Amino acid sequence: MKRKLNEECGVFGIYCQDHVAVAPLTYLGLFALQHRGQESSGMAVSDGTQLRLHKGSDLVPKVFSDEILEELKGHAAIGHVRYSTSDTNLPENAQPLAVDSAFGQVALAHNGNLVNSAELRQQLARSGAVFNTTTDTELIVHLMAQQGGSLEDALVKTAQKLTGAFALVVLAKDKLIGVRDPFGFRPLVLGARLDGYILASESCALTNLGAEVIREIEPGEMVIIEQGGVRFRRYAEEKREAFCAFEYVYFARPDSNLLGQNVHQVRKRIGAALWHEAPVDADIVIAAPDSGTPAAMGFAEASGLPFEIGLLKNRYIGRTFSGPSRELRELGVRIKLNPIEAVIKDQRIVIIDDSIVRGTTSAKIVRLLKETGAKEVHMYAACPPYRYPCCYGIDTSKEDLVAAKYDLEEIRRLIGADTLRFLSVEGLVGAIGLPKERLCLACFNGDYPLVGACCDCEKGEGAENGQ
Ligand code: AMP
Ligand code: SF4
Repeated sequence: MKRKLNEECGVFGIYCQDHVAVAPLTYLGLFALQHRGQESSGMAVSDGTQLRLHKGSDLVPKVFSDEILEELKGHAAIGHVRYSTSDTNLPENAQPLAVDSAFGQVALAHNGNLVNSAELRQQLARSGAVFNTTTDTELIVHLMAQQGGSLEDALVKTAQKLTGAFALVVLAKDKLIGVRDPFGFRPLVLGARLDGYILASESCALTNLGAEVIREIEPGEMVIIEQGGVRFRRYAEEKREAFCAFEYVYFARPDSNLLGQNVHQVRKRIGAALWHEAPVDADIVIAAPDSGTPAAMGFAEASGLPFEIGLLKNRYIGRTFSGPSRELRELGVRIKLNPIEAVIKDQRIVIIDDSIVRGTTSAKIVRLLKETGAKEVHMYAACPPYRYPCCYGIDTSKEDLVAAKYDLEEIRRLIGADTLRFLSVEGLVGAIGLPKERLCLACFNGDYPLVGACCDCEKGEGAENGQ
């Protein structure tokens, strides 16, 4: 597989009273969002007169030492964590991006994916723009720099030219601006501390910093935070809201609330829905740790089956272990995920994973459980089959998606499970607890809220497939 699955990112912004040093707070905020991206981390900090930028291709604690944080002086900042595609994990692609423009120094960080980037890149190249990165984010920076008026007006005009998914945080010497696309694909939430305001992809980054959640930035809305306080400005009509349902399934942290729904509780409801849709005779319920855990708890609660810890995940492995020999690679799988034989042996096991995307993880897990002596393995995915590639920030190509190539029975055989079940689209929507019209479910049902020239989405048949 030439590309990694995930192009999700996390963004963060903070604007405090003059005396507050925000670099350590930004560090903590990014640390709380680390699950959204592990390939690069960066922040830009303003002291009111200039911006200082530091970023690198690594985890937050590796990129920022105490000395570096000390040098990043200022009371306002933006930050970014990125999980890039492998072919674009170049250090220059790390964010934020900073430019000297007619508005002075400006830094920008972006979560999401534009579907008109090829067109914008051509237009910008024709007007003489030179690109240093392969990111959509640089296109946004160039577009912004070409607009006249104030920074705020330039951002409005820029946002109106973008098509696709974008949650942006923008820092100038004297202000912090947040922008959310008119479909609201990606999350962006505003919170307040006694000494200032915070913007973040997820509420966990606010509550971790002792901030209270004010509200989510609405689709098509901009928030401007400066000395005088906070202002909201609508720059586009909300289209059809299309918040990413996969945030609930996999990306977001369980302690975050998205659109008023707590992620952990949604996942528990998903587990209960799985039981009601497909009850099974079994002895225990276990989770593929850690992302399958809340759904497994919900399944156990609804079914009355005992919830057990059957697989233990080593939390200290940040990246995939890829040893030089087959033996080492296989040991690497065990080191990441070790079965508890006393729990698994001779049992009929329901195992719940949040999702089955390429199918390789489930195949490994089923094999591990069978090798450990499980009598039966019933694999449940806590979402519908992921059949259609995402154009809005999750880098999935159709060739990688096991459910795009095979039917349910074929996937079951491929992963070696005794039964295989997916949640229905209706079951997922019910568990999220929001009207279907407010959600993007394109990777599950092919119903793309926005069709662009970005990837295979034009080929999506648009059929609602359920199972
Ligand atoms: P696989 O079916 O082998 O692709 O693996 C699916 C597992 O990867 C799930 O258990 C998720 O925890 C995780 N996962 C799901 N979506 C993504 C993604 N976009 N990027 C990285 N990991 C993911
Ligand atoms: Fe999220 Fe799937 Fe829509 Fe992409 S296609 S934004 S992963 S729900």
